[in-house]
Amino acid sequence: MEKTTQLSVMGGGLVGCLLSLYLAKQGYRVDVYERRPDLRRTDIGGGRSINLALSDRGWRALETIGIAEDIKKVAIPMYRRVMHDKNGNLSFQPYGQEGQAIYSVSRGGLNQALLDLAEAEPTISLHFQQQVMEVEVATNKVTMLDTVSGQEHHVQPDVIFAADGAYSMVRLSLQKTDRFNYEQSYLDYGYKELTIPPAPDGGWQLEKNALHIWPRGQYMMIALPNVDGSFTCTLFFPYEGDPSFQSLQTEAQVNSFFQEIFPDVTALMPDLAQEFFENPVGSLVTIKCLPWRHSGKILLLGDAAHAIVPFYGQGMNAGFEDCTILRGLLEQHQDDWETIFQTFQDLRKPNTDAIADLAVYNFIEMRDKVADPRFLLQKKVESKITAQYPDAWLPLYSMVTFSPDIPYAEALANGQRQEEIMRGLMEYIQAEEDYDKPEVQQYLRTHLA
Ligand code: FAD
Repeated sequence: MEKTTQLSVMGGGLVGCLLSLYLAKQGYRVDVYERRPDLRRTDIGGGRSINLALSDRGWRALETIGIAEDIKKVAIPMYRRVMHDKNGNLSFQPYGQEGQAIYSVSRGGLNQALLDLAEAEPTISLHFQQQVMEVEVATNKVTMLDTVSGQEHHVQPDVIFAADGAYSMVRLSLQKTDRFNYEQSYLDYGYKELTIPPAPDGGWQLEKNALHIWPRGQYMMIALPNVDGSFTCTLFFPYEGDPSFQSLQTEAQVNSFFQEIFPDVTALMPDLAQEFFENPVGSLVTIKCLPWRHSGKILLLGDAAHAIVPFYGQGMNAGFEDCTILRGLLEQHQDDWETIFQTFQDLRKPNTDAIADLAVYNFIEMRDKVADPRFLLQKKVESKITAQYPDAWLPLYSMVTFSPDIPYAEALANGQRQEEIMRGLMEYIQAEEDYDKPEVQQYLRTHLA
């Protein structure tokens, strides 16, 4: 039965679209307001990352609305990290057990698929080029700018869901209310996207089913495959200092820097210098805030509630998991918005704080540690432990990425406990074969059995 409460979702990005579908399935009428034009009819470009790593928490949410299989057809499984050193030598690190993968998906393609589904729902109305300017929190009156006509107008939904991203205008309005906690911190690094085009025969110029990393200590480049045979590279690089975005000012400087630091891939990037100067530098921010809800009238979710840096590939996955959790609460508490929002916040906040911290930590692992032979040995040892004690040990990466039943905060706590055990164990291990030594096995029995 259709419900009369008027719901509005601010932001028609990944999380806003998915949420609107969940709300419609519960029988609500939903208006979605999106600042940009309809991306299915306009080439918007210049947005955030071109492709994203989708993993189990995200898949779970997509399965619920029946599009996981369709998206999987255009997603590229990445089974392992491939590390490229300065001499072009490769080393490898599987992401999980045999057959486990994270998936490279097109941000635009996924958003379009979700918009198509939303448009097909009779109770969802999509409003493009409508920009939230301000919310009068006491009344839910929203000032909206129609970016086509330049005219402002107002809407006043019963309940507002803010999925308007990291720079949420709804959150900004809440920030002006009493006792609203807000913190943001930027990394001293920005990112720039660059392209490895397809080979002349249309194939991939690097191993297709992998996430490639060029770890260089203080900075790094990564590359994810696209279905058209290209790779999108992302250079995570300091804003200032040497080297930095600031220090590379000319075409010659860019070319010689890349040839020296990323020699194996530079030859595959014919438009390197042009892209380097044309493509924007994106910033990397963590945003934490509380409360996420204002009585039973307004709820923040997705990046609007918890923007994180991209190094665990979990921002969108966490936003989709928000929707999964909220869906369960909607079923459980029906129209009791106060209870739904309060419970949602209580359940999610410790978990999104945990993944925010893990994401910052993973930057250090990716740019630096994965180039360290000792670290790679530790990873090999860890997979042996997992095989020997499957009930007592699961690598942190697997808990975060492949185990949607383990909340992020629990994964972080387990990971810290395991790290402690691993530190002690590695004292006995100099090479992979040492794993079978009696003292190693004894140590493991003491700590795990
Ligand atoms: P957004 O995707 O930001 O969507 C917000 C929407 O609201 C947009 O459509 C925007 O136009 C609209 N909007 C904004 N302001 C207004 C307004 N005032 N009025 C109306 N509409 C408005 N996550 C992963 O899971 N895996 C990855 O591999 C990954 N890689 C990333 C790489 C990079 C470089 C970056 C920056 C992020 C990455 N993320 C990744 C994170 C992911 O992009 C975000 O977590 C995800 O996009 C959040 O979705 P969202 O819908 O909450 O916000």
